[in-house]
Amino acid sequence: MPYIRCLGDCIGPINQLLNMSISISLPNGNKYEQPTGIFINNEWSEASDKGTIPVYNPSTGDEVVQVAAATAEDVDRAVVAARKAFQSWRDVPGEERAKLLDNFINLVSKNLDTVAAIEALDSGKPLQLNARGDIAGGLAVYKYYAGWADKVFGKTIVNTTKKLAYTLHEPHGVCGQIIPWNYPFLMAAWKIAPAIAAGNVVVMKLAENTPLSMLYLCNLFKEAGFPPGVINIFTGHGAKAGSRLAEHPDVDKIAFTGSTATGRIIMKLAATNLKAITLECGGKSPMIVLGDADLDQATKWAHAGIMTNQGQICCGVSRVLVHESIYDQFVDKYVEVVKQRSRVGDMFQDKILQGPQVSKVQQEKVLGYIEKGKEEGAKLVYSGAVAAEALEKGYFVPPTVFADVRDDMVISREEIFGPVVAIAKFSDVEDAINRANDSEYGLAASVYTKDLTEAHRISRRLESGQVFINMAHMGDYRMPFGGYKQSGIGRELGEYGLDTYTQCKAVHINMGMKL
Ligand code: NAD
Repeated sequence: MPYIRCLGDCIGPINQLLNMSISISLPNGNKYEQPTGIFINNEWSEASDKGTIPVYNPSTGDEVVQVAAATAEDVDRAVVAARKAFQSWRDVPGEERAKLLDNFINLVSKNLDTVAAIEALDSGKPLQLNARGDIAGGLAVYKYYAGWADKVFGKTIVNTTKKLAYTLHEPHGVCGQIIPWNYPFLMAAWKIAPAIAAGNVVVMKLAENTPLSMLYLCNLFKEAGFPPGVINIFTGHGAKAGSRLAEHPDVDKIAFTGSTATGRIIMKLAATNLKAITLECGGKSPMIVLGDADLDQATKWAHAGIMTNQGQICCGVSRVLVHESIYDQFVDKYVEVVKQRSRVGDMFQDKILQGPQVSKVQQEKVLGYIEKGKEEGAKLVYSGAVAAEALEKGYFVPPTVFADVRDDMVISREEIFGPVVAIAKFSDVEDAINRANDSEYGLAASVYTKDLTEAHRISRRLESGQVFINMAHMGDYRMPFGGYKQSGIGRELGEYGLDTYTQCKAVHINMGMKL
């Protein structure tokens, strides 16, 4: 019996034809109507070529539903709608934009159980541990930016008897946004909320694997009062729909989150009309653990920093460099923590700490890296238990700990994006800093020590958009998030993130200068 089934084999398809939606029963008992189409101008439509993408339950491999796969033509339609909407939306006052965001927050809050269950079903996130938290975290981001919407000011810079000059922070206009599958609701919140707060209109492409929560929420954007064309959302293949959005000559800004490889493509496509661009890309984030570290806490933070969200975390602590004086104890304790905290299973079961990976492709990729680690001679110190049947049907991966990893090994250099950690030893802290920096990535890094002076000194040396001291991977929506090096360009979240959704105009006024 699959977890999800249509309410009657025939009613589902008929509904889908008429309303671009299908009735779904969730394992927690909720029933809801899942939209499956393309959301443009507050209306649903099929893809122009009627193409669809299957969405699977990652725990069972069963197909849940087919959603429309937008074509380049559909993307063009969305951009036209957005451009038209921008003509009047640009004059909507900030307090009104804030009100609409608040309406949306209230509607999502009322539907939180359903949205969290959809997110769990779609992505494999444990419902109680992760999915609910993601929705609450995303709502905090909407709330934060709703607060900014009436505070997008410029500055008065020259104010003399002869001249007044000031700046305006104006929206870019049509913002193309492309998100990945690891945090569908959160990643959308990080992009939609600041774009709207700053007065832009949005055309968003969802990830192929995880479109359900955001498609469900489209109707709530409409109900919240957003005018047609202000928020347009669809699913589509990256190479078709995503690339059209990135290259589209009438899109003013592109904001992308995903792999560094795709980020490079997006940057080239965005060059067609010199779009404003922000890229949030991959990482291979190190933690340096000094000899005086609190071992109990260091191992717990290091563990949570990678094993949360099935290891599908862009700034996951995938490399741990540990001082030789505590190395053996650290490895033993880390394994103990993994044993205690990595109950693997279906995301809807109680007390599950690790669900399946998002897709078969992702599962195979991560299992491939684990094999590579063994082949290269890293010491496999722990591989968690996953029932054979679950492994066969669902997309599970055992939590895996490698020790004695050399820096030149593939598992130490490439982003695995799964519950796999590479632990290595160091004797000299300068050497550890250089090794931590020896990566094309620079998204996050952590330092663990009781010596805060040393922690600050090391933080300055780390080539990374974020540094966590005596913690890992716990950002804050008020703080900027983004990467150094090939982990990205620009920042999301906080005031810095808002800035990337405005452009600055300088206005000069002659107050009496005569020629
Ligand atoms: P991905 O690059 O394969 O896909 C991301 C999005 O880009 C998807 O919507 C996809 O359809 C689209 N896409 C793919 N090819 C495209 C193309 N040619 N043109 C336009 N769009 C295209 O990444 P993924 O596998 O979905 O996500 C995992 C990656 O995302 C990891 O590398 C992870 O580190 C990164 N990530 C980064 C952050 C961050 O904030 N830095 C956050 C989450 C995930």
